[in-house]
Amino acid sequence: MRLFDTHAHISLIDDDPIEQLIAIREAKKSNVHAIVTICSNIDTFEKTFEDLQSEKSVFYSVGISPSAVEELPPNWQERLAHIANRKGVVAIGETGLDYYRKYGNKREQIELFMQQLDIARELDLPVVLHNREAGEDILKILLERIPPRGVVFHCYSENWEFAKKTLDLNVMYSFAGSVTYRNARHLHETATNLPIERILIESETPFIPPSKRHGKRNRPAYLIDTAESIAKLRNEDLEEFTEQVFLNSEKFFDVSV
Ligand SMILES: [Zn+2]
Repeated sequence: MRLFDTHAHISLIDDDPIEQLIAIREAKKSNVHAIVTICSNIDTFEKTFEDLQSEKSVFYSVGISPSAVEELPPNWQERLAHIANRKGVVAIGETGLDYYRKYGNKREQIELFMQQLDIARELDLPVVLHNREAGEDILKILLERIPPRGVVFHCYSENWEFAKKTLDLNVMYSFAGSVTYRNARHLHETATNLPIERILIESETPFIPPSKRHGKRNRPAYLIDTAESIAKLRNEDLEEFTEQVFLNSEKFFDVSV
């Protein structure tokens, strides 16, 4: 079996790179053969890259999350574009809109998001989307500016009605541990109805552990729980489901593992 963790914050597992490498080894033993680690802090990206450079199974997504909107690093556009040219960088993000936490104001968040969509277009990269209670505004922006390589709704949190409105766009839907929660009916319905070619899975390490790992800090090795939940909801064979999702991930990020 091959699993592809499309969204983990490896640098947040522990400050100690040895602990990070242990988590990656442990993930491999649990069939996680590839991980996209999300670097949403320009200042620490170089360190993450150095710590993990020997890991052939780790890819990088770089971007500025809406939480940083009130204190943007100087020259962030040039720095981001420069970093994104590095070998192993496969996406821009996470970026998007977060109306739950109300970082800055909406205008500032929208501006920061749109600028990164444009950088992704220029660099021919896909985008990892962060959406909290901002689906309708994100949809409006995507209709105007979706970059050619498309976007992934990371940790999909909207319902099936919303997914249907976005299906005509070049959009992927990535499910995290939240889909394993018994009361997450909106996610169950979406994960059941989506065409399999549009599905990705992620751990969102160290956040959102699957229900069986409640109370623990999440790790890529727990990704199997999410895969099992969705395969069961869809009434599909686990091996076939995970292999197709792995191929979807390789195609979306344009990598071969
Ligand atoms: Zn994240």
